[in-house]
Amino acid sequence: MTNETLDNVIYASFGNRQSAEQSAENLQRYNMGMAVVDGNTVMVYNSDNPKPQIREAINMDKLVKEYLSSSKGSALMDYIRFRGGRLLDIKGVGAGDLGEGVVAALLYDGLEGYILSNYDGKTFESRVYEMAQKYGIDEKAMVEYVLTHELGHAAGYHSEEGVEGFIKDYFTSQAFRSSGEEREKYLELAKIAEEREAEAKDAGK
Ligand SMILES: [Zn+2]
Repeated sequence: MTNETLDNVIYASFGNRQSAEQSAENLQRYNMGMAVVDGNTVMVYNSDNPKPQIREAINMDKLVKEYLSSSKGSALMDYIRFRGGRLLDIKGVGAGDLGEGVVAALLYDGLEGYILSNYDGKTFESRVYEMAQKYGIDEKAMVEYVLTHELGHAAGYHSEEGVEGFIKDYFTSQAFRSSGEEREKYLELAKIAEEREAEAKDAGK
């Protein structure tokens, strides 16, 4: 059993966001090793282990892009709008040195943000695997959970209790719209979110 958890939202200051270039410069000021995919290149900041961090950044970017362009992604966007929210401007996806026990995080300054997987020598894949073992679900479903959680933060649900409550409702609504194995999966994901919501509430997060 491990204590891998999800993040909290990390508040960072990116400055006044006048241009993408400036945004990147401001990101560099944030004192954490990270790699962020920017179009066809990967920007590396403060990394002491750039090669695997770049690989992890590309992997996370691919996962987020696949999710957002899938029917799952559109269902989540519809649900965010239905609840009166909106997704903040996601400037990039990558991998950062987020510290022990963290799977992923939203680095965020109030207007724009970066979705990061955690890489500090241990891959996102292995962290997701451990989390999937803990909750007794398959890894693909766990990845969906983690990405939904981070996008929930990006939709304005900042506290852990708030975001788990939001994704619990979302997964429940998805369960009602689906059948068979898909329905079972969403019922399980909703149950995990409910459990984590209660834990976050107890912890005051
Ligand atoms: Zn979180």
